Amino acid sequence: MTNEYPTRRIAIFGSTGSIGTQALEVIASNPAIFSAEVLTAYNNEDLLIEQALRFNPNIVVIGDEKKYPKVKDALANADIKVFAGEKALEEVASMDCYDLMLAAIVGYAGLRPTLKAIGIGKPVALANKETLVVAGDIIMRKAVENRVPVIPVDSEHSAIFQCLVGETRNRIEKVVLTASGGPFLGRKPNYLVNVKREHALQHPNWNMGAKITIDSATLMNKGLEMIEAKWLFNLKPEQIQVVIHPQSIIHSMVQFEDGSIKAQMGLPDMKLPIQYALAFPKRVANNFPRYDFKKVNTLTFEEPDLRTFRNLGLAMTALNKGGNLPAVMNAANEIAVYAFLRNRVNFLDMTEVIEKTMQKVNFIESPTLDEYFESDGVARNYAADLIKL
Ligand code: NDP
Ligand code: MG
Repeated sequence: MTNEYPTRRIAIFGSTGSIGTQALEVIASNPAIFSAEVLTAYNNEDLLIEQALRFNPNIVVIGDEKKYPKVKDALANADIKVFAGEKALEEVASMDCYDLMLAAIVGYAGLRPTLKAIGIGKPVALANKETLVVAGDIIMRKAVENRVPVIPVDSEHSAIFQCLVGETRNRIEKVVLTASGGPFLGRKPNYLVNVKREHALQHPNWNMGAKITIDSATLMNKGLEMIEAKWLFNLKPEQIQVVIHPQSIIHSMVQFEDGSIKAQMGLPDMKLPIQYALAFPKRVANNFPRYDFKKVNTLTFEEPDLRTFRNLGLAMTALNKGGNLPAVMNAANEIAVYAFLRNRVNFLDMTEVIEKTMQKVNFIESPTLDEYFESDGVARNYAADLIKL
């Protein structure tokens, strides 16, 4: 296709992950539109090297400093700058060498680089929902101050964002976040208590990183997304509804003041919201599989089972109460999920760890950024103690 815009230089933070690798597929398919300017990884140096040799970025960062010599050696003959360490992630995010950051690091670790990008006025395509869960007020305030667009990548929020194009003057009555329900939809606690990591890692509709896959199985993911929606679209908690829609065809909906509902639909494929965020406001032609209405298909909807999937209820409490509670919940959840992935706690214990941590850590109504960092640390330590990590 003809390209009336200059190539958009993308900095992919978390290029070795599920979102990062799919973003590189999108870039590879559209070399006239996008280039990969920065690639970052934490552990997976082999994939980072392979990506760097293929996409020839300006800069790569490997989070784990021990791996620096190997990456540096492997790229010695390429014209690519190599940095290492967590500080380097922030420093590179602060460099004026890219046009848009794709924030695709998982968890709290994604917060600081994203803050840096916003600080120097770079648009952010945001996959890392934990950033907004931890410090959404500060992130969105800084984005407004610096006139930085924050474009959602999360499929639900991309759907809402797409429904809102052309509607800036119209008031949202509510948004409806759809949830697949995960692999344990319809199950009860007596079943969940025996669930093992291999089973929880099998998601029916999406192929994602380990952490978000477990969050989807517990419905914490939908809770994180409610908080993410609050900040992205400036909503009150009561304007955010969750409905289970197992087919994942409607990616989410917006209801306006006149009762009209807009939905964004398609087959579940993260490459579409990734591509939309990278190219916004343009749509880019592709040959991804299309949804076919002629096939016998039923779209169904049901209420989430909050008594069984208690993490969603905990997230609603955090959403309603605000302050540092979402940050505390997020930290405890990260600890609990990683403990579950290492077979240290069972599926239902994760909820206990999160709930106890939320009860224990001091509540702060309007935290500063440092207080968010501190709350995260305190909550992590408390949760790890509970599990005896
Ligand atoms: P993955 O686990 O697949 O990838 C995570 C990426 O972050 C990897 O590149 C990893 O590097 C890097 N990383 C991990 N820990 C650190 C750290 N401490 N410091 C720096 N980098 C780190 O995750 P996903 O791609 O699934 O998810 C990324 C984000 O996008 C999450 O916040 C998730 O909630 C969100 N998201 C994901 C969706 C999906 O379909 N996957 C859908 C919607 C949202 P390495 O592998 O080299 O260690
Ligand atoms: Mg989502």
